[in-house]
Amino acid sequence: MKILVINAGSSSIKYQLFDMTNECVIAKGMCDRVGQQSSTLIHKGKKDIRLEDVKMPSHVEAMKFVLDALVHAEHGVIKDLSEIKAVGHRVVLGGEDYTGSVVIDGTVMKALYANIGLAPLHNPANIQGIEACKEIMPKTPMVAVFDNAFHSTMPDYAYMYAINYDDYKKHKIRKYGFHGTSHLFVSSEAERLIGRKDLKIVIAHLGNGASMSAVKNGKSVDTSMGLTPLQGLIMGTRCGDIDSAAVEYLVNNTGMNVHEVTTYLNKKCGLLGICGFSSDFRDIEDEYEKGNDRARLAVEMFCYRVKSYVGSYAAAMGGLDCLVFTGGIGENSYIVREKVMEGLEFLGLEIDDKANKTTKRGETKLFSKGKAKAYVIPTNEEIMIARDTLRLVK
Ligand code: AMP
Repeated sequence: MKILVINAGSSSIKYQLFDMTNECVIAKGMCDRVGQQSSTLIHKGKKDIRLEDVKMPSHVEAMKFVLDALVHAEHGVIKDLSEIKAVGHRVVLGGEDYTGSVVIDGTVMKALYANIGLAPLHNPANIQGIEACKEIMPKTPMVAVFDNAFHSTMPDYAYMYAINYDDYKKHKIRKYGFHGTSHLFVSSEAERLIGRKDLKIVIAHLGNGASMSAVKNGKSVDTSMGLTPLQGLIMGTRCGDIDSAAVEYLVNNTGMNVHEVTTYLNKKCGLLGICGFSSDFRDIEDEYEKGNDRARLAVEMFCYRVKSYVGSYAAAMGGLDCLVFTGGIGENSYIVREKVMEGLEFLGLEIDDKANKTTKRGETKLFSKGKAKAYVIPTNEEIMIARDTLRLVK
């Protein structure tokens, strides 16, 4: 049984083809700069290829490149598209309509369109990815796996904002949370490693986008992203938590309108805004080690906010059994893990310095000595999407 997993962004399509008999990735790749003058396809299959300067004016064209690569005589991995039994799509926001994955039909598509206003940066791209696949493979079942689904178990006092209740009801302004597939995967892995489900786990998914969650007895009870992925931690280019009055202040003092301020807070702030030269954590860490003070500030602000959420979520759950680091930064930066753990001994977290500094890329590792466990667990959102897709189409 082969399942194709699609993660469509506004100008990119990432894909992985799984053979679900052994949950093996048999091909994967990415189309980049979709909709621009010249696009790129990177494909790893029977052979690895890179096509530069190709024409992908729309997601439909890009999907054609992906499917051609999968069935190609030399670098493809399947003979015919009919071997793909279903396609699983990552969808950023299902809103309050969907609390779990669903087989995509007309009603689901209507709900996705209706939710565009709540996720204007992400849902349109996800919809384009689904429609492109439906056009080329009309008979293949498609499944939507929502980024907010895992967080649908949050209690009302955690997901509500303190705005007029009628406005919450009418406009659905509340915390939804994102990265749910990743939080579910790594919390399940932590439960498997510890051998129990009755755990209080804090997850730090630290990548270019970053979010935390509190997982009690296998359920998400709070998370740091909100109505949109702008809330919470400091991210590559997103500011995270900020006083909402700053928006009007920026409008009045910079000449930007509200839309421009929102774009600014999403694209020009965060680590990039603080250090002034890059949103990529590797560049910032390099400069930090050379003594660049703005890089130091970016790293310290980033880690301080992660640490604040660890404390907040331990308090919300009444304790902490396990802290998990995942995502590009969480998995690879021992400096971030060290700075976050510093001073958290009162929660039972005691770092094992050697284990922390010797963690290898892609490795799952325990790096604590205290009562509470600290793990690095590489995330794998794609396998969760493939598993859910298989479960629903079976
Ligand atoms: P993601 O969005 O999960 O792919 O993570 C991307 C982020 O992880 C970027 O900021 C990268 O700079 C960061 N990253 C990747 N590898 C490393 C590394 N070895 N050390 C520090 N940060 C890293």
